[in-house]
Order: sequence, then structure tokens, then C-alpha cells
Amino acid sequence: MSEPAIHTERQMIRPEKDTFLAEENPFEAMMERFDHAAQLLKLDSGLYKVLRNPEKQIITSVPVVRDNGEVEVYTGYRVLYNTSRGPAKGGIRFDLNVTLEEVKALAAWMTWKCALVNIPFGGAKGGVVCDPTAMSMQELERVTRRYTSSIIETLGPDSDVPAPDVNTNERVMAWIMDTYSMHKRHTVTAVVTGKPVEMGGSLGRREATGRGCMIVTREALARLGMSLKGARVAIQGFGNVGSVTADLLAKEGAVIVAVSDKSSGLHNAKGLDVGDVLKWVRERRQLAGYPKADAIPNDQVLTLDCDVVVPAATENVITRKNAPHIKAKIICEGANGPTTAAADEILEKKGIFVIPDILANAGGVTVSYFEWVQDRGGYFWDEDTVNRRLESIMVRSFTEVVSWAERHAVNTRIASYMIAIDRVAAMHRLRGMYA
Ligand code: GLU
Repeated sequence: MSEPAIHTERQMIRPEKDTFLAEENPFEAMMERFDHAAQLLKLDSGLYKVLRNPEKQIITSVPVVRDNGEVEVYTGYRVLYNTSRGPAKGGIRFDLNVTLEEVKALAAWMTWKCALVNIPFGGAKGGVVCDPTAMSMQELERVTRRYTSSIIETLGPDSDVPAPDVNTNERVMAWIMDTYSMHKRHTVTAVVTGKPVEMGGSLGRREATGRGCMIVTREALARLGMSLKGARVAIQGFGNVGSVTADLLAKEGAVIVAVSDKSSGLHNAKGLDVGDVLKWVRERRQLAGYPKADAIPNDQVLTLDCDVVVPAATENVITRKNAPHIKAKIICEGANGPTTAAADEILEKKGIFVIPDILANAGGVTVSYFEWVQDRGGYFWDEDTVNRRLESIMVRSFTEVVSWAERHAVNTRIASYMIAIDRVAAMHRLRGMYA
């Protein structure tokens, strides 16, 4: 097989099969937390019904001519979960494990995430069931363009704005922007975020999710009376989110004791030289074989002896099976949905401070918002401005979650859901029901 056509946004690491099968489907896992938060908020039954259902679900066939001349038909999804607060916003993933249930859950999470950090977007997600690592660059481009054209009715700066997610990147966003613009007969940069900087992308967007993770980890450590300097961190996933989080945390003085990708886990109790690991991965495209660390199974990274663990790969990796063995004091959820509802209870009993996904990884969509604002204004900010504004939104959101959790005696995940649902519900009440 030739070299994979893209470098991934988040890297997929699949948990052991039995744990994956044993626990809930992602939409039900999201709903369990939603129900709990809605109950505590005493959400009225009408709104409860509205917010439990996605607004729009698109299932589309994506026929593509492979390089060998044969036609393959892939399945694509785009789910707009809720658009009461603004245009639908959320990434597109290309992966063999994409299902409608997963896309629905991810679209709902985007809704809560945007509300939690209080940016004027609704939530969406898209996906194509395919294996981009087995495609040439040309095939990937054809899948992207055909998928884009088949969901084009929903797309637009005022209606639905995609971004990178698992196995998609700036290159893919550039094709989406071009396809949309060709149909519209003029260039529309604000239809998609996470674009190359040269074509209307924002400075700092590539690092934004990892930077957000670094900021909230620092805040959480401070709450526990600890400093980022010397804090021992283990990170699962070495795609865009995991690798940038590792790099920025190390630059702030944290000790990165372990990282992993789908090829291997790496452990060095004295701390990895993250710059050196990044160089290795740039050259070889995988962690396996890196010499200055012990190779460990990649799922072991989650249960290592450390202060902070960052699951930055995919859903359902912290389950009832491994949650009892987690030794970290803080979990910073760089991935979407890495912890199952059953595991939440165990973590709470153990007193682990969880920075939930909809807060921890919200840096990405926050800078996507900045990118959309810059594209629409046609005026671009310097990187310092982007980072300063990101910092202020992440710190404010973190503080709101922690004080809500204290005031209502709930864990940080339920506090985050409550704040988000409360904001979305408030918008529905103000707008009224068009029926
Ligand atoms: N895919 C990212 C997420 O899950 C970014 C979404 C966006 O920027 O719209 O948050």
C-alpha cells in the first residue's frame, strides 16, 4: 500500500473488541448524560422532546471512480443536531467505523460544546464510511468533492460549516471550500473552517484543540494545588490533538511520561523528549520503533502511574473495565466521547477530576469560530490575538463549569451538560415554537 494520503486530525485507536461491544452505543451514552442534566434542570417536557432529537439527518451514497477505473459507492452522513443558536458547526470524519448513531452523538456533542463555550453556533457532524489510508490522494479528493456536492443544500456560512475531524485535515477542507465555491460561482471561504492559512484559514487553528487541552489541564492542576511544571502526563493518540497537547504541555514544563498511537505506546518515566518524538513521527509516520522509550501496549497508557491522562483518540476507551485502574488525578478528554457513562460513575467515586470532552477539546471549534469571523469580515488577526482570545474563552468556560459543579453538587461532566442545555433551551424559549 502506498503512503496514506493524509495526516489525521485525531488518530483512531480502537479499544479491545470486547470492551467496545460491551458498552452503550455513542448516542445512548450521550443521551444518558443529557437525561440526567435535563432532569436536574427540570427541563419542560416539550423542550426535552425537541432537544432529544436531531433536526436533520442526511444519508447519502457517494459513488467514486477508483484509480483502477472501478466504481465504489461509499455511505456518507451529515447530521444537523440543533441550529437554534446559529449555523450548524462540526467536523467531518472519514473512517470505516463511522455509523449514523455515532454521527448523531457527535453532532449532539457539538451542540453542547458550542453552547458551553458560548459561541453562536449549533451542532453538526458528518462522516463517510471509508478507509482513507487505503486511498490515493486523487481518490480522497473525489470522495471529498462528491460527498460535498451531495450535502450541498445544507452547507453554507449561515447554515452548516464543516471542519476537520478524524482522518480529515486542511487539504480536505480546501477541497470542500473549492467544491462549494464552484457550485456557488464565487469564492466562499467561510463555508468551512480548518482551512490552510493561505486560503482564509486562521493562524492558530491547527494547534487550537491541543492548546485548549493545555489551558484547561493547567487550570485543573491549579485547582488541585499542583503546578503544570513537573506534572506527569500520559497521552493516548498522537494525531493533531494528542501531539500538539504533548508539545505545548512539555513546553510549559510538564513531563510527558507516555504517548501512544495505533502502532504502539511509548513509556519513559523520566519524560519523553517530545520534540524528538515529533521528529520521529514526521519521518516515519508512526511511534513504533522509537528508541528512547519502552514500547508498551497503547491501551496501557490510560492506566499508567501519572498525574494527568489525556485520551485524545476516539470514543469509548475509558470503560467500566479499565476505569477502576486509572491512577491519574485528572482526565483531560481531548477526544469526543472517550469515557462511557458507566465509567463516569467509577471515576467520580475515585475522586478523579474529569475535564469533559465538550470543555476540554472545545479549543478547536472556538478557533473555528474565530476563522469564520475573520473570513466573514475579510480581516485577519495575528496569532497572538487568536491565542489570547482562545485563552480567555477556555479559562472563562472552565471557571463556569467548576463553579456550577460546586453550586449544584454535580460532577464536572453533568455541570457542563447543564450549562450547555440551559443555554440552548433559553434560546428555544426566546424564539418560541414555530408550529
Ligand atoms: N472536529 C472538531 C471537534 O470535534 C472541530 C469542529 C469544528 O471546528 O467545527 O470539535
